[in-house]
Amino acid sequence: MTEYEAVIGLEVHGQLNTRTKMFCGCSTAFGAPPNTHVCPVCLGMPGALPVPNRRAIELAVRVGRALDCELFATSQFARKNYFYPDLAKGYQISQFELPLNGKGELTVELDGSPLAIGITRIHLEEDAAKNMHGVGGETLVDFNRAGVPLMEVVSEPDLRTAAQAEAYLKKLREVFLFCGANDGNLEEGSFRCDANVSIRPVGQARFGTRVELKNINSFRFVRLAIEFEIARQTALIAAGGEVVQETRTYSDARNETISMRGKEEAHDYRYFPDPDLPPLVLPEEMLARVTVPEQADAIRARFVASGLSSGAAMVLTSHPAFARYTDTVIAAGANAKTAANFIQAEVLRHARTDGLEATFPVPAERVAELLALVADGTINGKIAKDVFSQMVTSRRPPAAIIEEQGLAQVTDRGAIAQVVDQVLSDNPSQVAKYREGKTNLLGFFVGQVMKATQGQANPKVVNELLRERL
Ligand code: ADP
Ligand code: MG
Ligand code: ZN
Repeated sequence: MTEYEAVIGLEVHGQLNTRTKMFCGCSTAFGAPPNTHVCPVCLGMPGALPVPNRRAIELAVRVGRALDCELFATSQFARKNYFYPDLAKGYQISQFELPLNGKGELTVELDGSPLAIGITRIHLEEDAAKNMHGVGGETLVDFNRAGVPLMEVVSEPDLRTAAQAEAYLKKLREVFLFCGANDGNLEEGSFRCDANVSIRPVGQARFGTRVELKNINSFRFVRLAIEFEIARQTALIAAGGEVVQETRTYSDARNETISMRGKEEAHDYRYFPDPDLPPLVLPEEMLARVTVPEQADAIRARFVASGLSSGAAMVLTSHPAFARYTDTVIAAGANAKTAANFIQAEVLRHARTDGLEATFPVPAERVAELLALVADGTINGKIAKDVFSQMVTSRRPPAAIIEEQGLAQVTDRGAIAQVVDQVLSDNPSQVAKYREGKTNLLGFFVGQVMKATQGQANPKVVNELLRERL
């Protein structure tokens, strides 16, 4: 029997993190009432002229650099012509022959070994409007999204399995986030993926006919859609049939791909340079200014080098704001490991992320203050957790809470010794057992002393005194 392998190439559309649209000043905010963020430019009124968004260009340059792409100092906007109600102008402005970025590379880690995936290009374009079907039996069009800036990252057909495709997408999303270029939100559609899938007999150099899978809005669905499509095409070819070049969509309800339309070819779109937009020449000062922020891999390596476990480093780089928060706590003097443990156990429980933003219950500097009070022996770790939960609700500095409620740790040996003696005289039989060799009773005595001091006795001093006396 012939063995087949899949060939997969991905096209990712990422909304660039700008306040305004690609060619006009309208807001890009998500979720506004329909048709409230519109103007003559993004409604496609004749004669309205587009002006490119500098920030969008800078962000796409940044992502290009993060992916080691060749950067073209001159690129060109073109018109991609087609008719559809969500495209008022009758064409989409996109880059075609001369994109902003050429070939690059993204390395993912899969089963512990690295896999380099080629990037074909990254180009700029504008989003279309949104058709809303079935409203009172009609289709309505919301133009708020029309003209929102997008970067399209096209991969080489280097991927061979659904798992590789998923790993690539997750890594690309991480790069987008750590570049501050895109919020990586698949549900809201600001990170969208089309998967091109074909199969061929193992050993054959020529690619098979590809099918393009569109509108898949979760990583899991990408994997399932590709897996389904590989099985469908393999069965088709094995039975002597032929794959038709077409666009299909994935239905999660049915876990299968469904034919949408025949796949159009580039020449169908009658691309030509947009006469309203001169060639995009990147200014020297922009090239000098746009740098790539520290990426997740580098931050993880740095965290591990400062003593964190790779698991902790992973959690604390799962969002750029978590990494920044951790860095701020450590920079304010906290021990790296202590800070990492505390942030993971206490802070992240209350943290909320919203796209590229995150809100924390307590500013990083305050957590650093709290950890400093543990480090200098003012309070112990257990009390620190209580103080922290009060900081979350009262927003007051830790020192004030400790002072006000008299939570400071008791380190005075004399005072602790009194309690220790009391506990020992209250429990004569336990003392006798301890002295007969049941030394694991030490924990019991420590517990009694801590209870009597409302957890405020310095545990180190308590242990020392108990051992002395016993
Ligand atoms: P289009 O817009 O027509 O889909 P693009 O060039 O933007 O064309 O994207 C083509 C994508 O399809 C790329 O990711 C490429 O790697 C992938 N691709 C091309 N040929 C094949 C093939 N035979 N099998 C699978 N993927 C393919
Ligand atoms: Mg495509
Ligand atoms: Zn507008």
